[in-house]
Amino acid sequence: MKKLIIGNWKMNPTSLAEAKKIYTGVKTKVSGLRNVSVAICPPTVYLGVFSATSKGKTSLMLGAQDTHWQESGASTGNISPLMLKDLKTSYVLVGHSERRATGETDEQVKLKIKAIQEYKMTSVLCVGEKERDESGHYLAVIKRQIEDGLEGLPKKAAEKLVIAYEPVWAIGKEAKGVETPEGFNHNMIFIRKTLSYIFGQKEALKIPILYGGSVSSKNADSFLREGRADGLLVGRDSLTASSFVEIIKIANQIK
Ligand code: PEP
Repeated sequence: MKKLIIGNWKMNPTSLAEAKKIYTGVKTKVSGLRNVSVAICPPTVYLGVFSATSKGKTSLMLGAQDTHWQESGASTGNISPLMLKDLKTSYVLVGHSERRATGETDEQVKLKIKAIQEYKMTSVLCVGEKERDESGHYLAVIKRQIEDGLEGLPKKAAEKLVIAYEPVWAIGKEAKGVETPEGFNHNMIFIRKTLSYIFGQKEALKIPILYGGSVSSKNADSFLREGRADGLLVGRDSLTASSFVEIIKIANQIK
């Protein structure tokens, strides 16, 4: 399976001019790369602009950072999956820890994934514990996020699903610690096992499991090779075209 690299810009950058600069800087560099799939999740206000400029087939896909589960209606401030589909969005992040921190529940995550599936986009379900404990209780948190978020989905839903494992304590500038490739791999196996109880082993093997949490060009190779990650979800380092392109090129070298 090709490595999948997704950039999550979060609430950045603060001008359309800068957003276009980063987007174009990445787009021009990824067009010839064959072994990697790349998507950028910009703030929704920029999504329409990028969608309009990417005519025809482009190797840089678009993703959204969140969605509502309803198609339209009285929901001030929200964006619907139908709107995202109309903008040729391929991926939608769901259950990012920064959304969960504002009160998003597993029940809402479930509704969102169901809606994303209906519009034939791919959900990137973000899971991860806030704290790591020696005795492994944190695994129950990951298990619950996966089981509750994916409840009731048919087997074929596995084809339009990505899991991003992001230990919350390893995310962002203020991260309390660093995850190791071995630590990731251990949890990836646990996640795969949980997925195989839900979808069956054959389907579960098709679901890419990404690592996210302070990924940079310095650690990307080890998470992909030693950690055997199917891809990476990159925050800060996706905001500088050159750093993000470096990570993408590292992934492109791995077959
Ligand atoms: C994220 O929040 O999804 C993320 C991975 O952020 P960072 O790379 O900045 O830790």
